[in-house]
Amino acid sequence: MITLKQLKQLGEKHGTPLFVIDHDELRKNYRQFRKYLPRVQVYFAVKANPDPEIVRTLYREGASFDVASMPEFMIVHENIKHLPAKQRQDWIWDKIIYANPTKPTSTLEELNQYKPLVTFDNLEEIQKIKKHAPNAGLALRLKVPNTGAMVELSSKFGASPGEAVDLILAADRVGLTVEGISFHVGSQTTNFENYVQALSLTANIFQEAKDRGYHKMNLIDIGGGFPAPYDSSVKPFRELAKVINTEIERLFPKDIQILAEPGRFLVASAGYAVSQVTGKAVRDGKMCYYINDGVYHTYSGVIFDHCKYPVKAFKKGPTQICSVFGPTCDALDVVSMAENLPDLQRDDYVYSVNIGAYSHASATYFNGFPPAKVVHVNR
Ligand SMILES: *Cc1c(COP(=O)(O)O)cnc(C)c1O
Repeated sequence: MITLKQLKQLGEKHGTPLFVIDHDELRKNYRQFRKYLPRVQVYFAVKANPDPEIVRTLYREGASFDVASMPEFMIVHENIKHLPAKQRQDWIWDKIIYANPTKPTSTLEELNQYKPLVTFDNLEEIQKIKKHAPNAGLALRLKVPNTGAMVELSSKFGASPGEAVDLILAADRVGLTVEGISFHVGSQTTNFENYVQALSLTANIFQEAKDRGYHKMNLIDIGGGFPAPYDSSVKPFRELAKVINTEIERLFPKDIQILAEPGRFLVASAGYAVSQVTGKAVRDGKMCYYINDGVYHTYSGVIFDHCKYPVKAFKKGPTQICSVFGPTCDALDVVSMAENLPDLQRDDYVYSVNIGAYSHASATYFNGFPPAKVVHVNR
């Protein structure tokens, strides 16, 4: 844990905008996941935060990785190849899954040499994989309910349960092996029923595949979606884990391999943003603060991730409702229209917590303002 005092000192020392990653917190989140879901191998979804130091820390803990592009694949490959693994792993499926159902042919050609595990969800993709990455193993991405998730993913990807076994058999006919099923219940899923339904759909497909003569299914990838503790309304992880464990025990044989692709859960609480007030104005009777980080930068999750990050002051004092704006000239660059802040002066420091996922990862250089500098603590 880093204290607020340390956080402010980091801002003073390194300058702002600053993005702080606490590696103790990464390890704590990873260990919590493993403790409550001991049967599940963790494939960290790199897109949530692709910082190489995060990859290295999680690898040392025993994690594997979910990538969705060739550059992400190389971030993992380059950063783990010289590190000793905690548990013995058989390269490369045990360490990396390529979980983007639609892949460019050039990527498939590059991946083929690694005998990768890749996801797919349609006939066109089967033809492409057969032609450009015949060494790949396959997992069928299934469309499952995303009810109540903060970020919905089921409209873009996933075969419908009704066509699943037809697709599995089509892959089999061209000589590819479908190892199992993957799904994603939607990001920041607080509705645990989504996992229950997805596992039940998966069990039905395993049964139907068997009934139709396909006996090679041995893997379930339960995806991401595990909620980060943004506020007190998010139930503890152990409660969700209990639901998932019960369903897995009930529906599947003991020797089935189970993996998950948590992104947000592992990195959200490990990230902090520190910035400074660059200007202030009263507009329509409301105090407006301009800070040197915004929605084109560390607060990009406000736009892309439908996420809110309360901005807090280190300073104490009576508060009023304020607006907080980012540094660019775009009117979209609004961090918040309603923050409770004390009276702040130019150069005063402010911060946000739980901002490690889908934040710095989607920061841009828009308007000439570069992404925040990154510092790692407790590495
Ligand atoms: C984004 C993504 C993840 C990570 O999701 P979280 O909700 O951050 O856990 C996992 N798997 C796939 C295929 C994804 O696209």
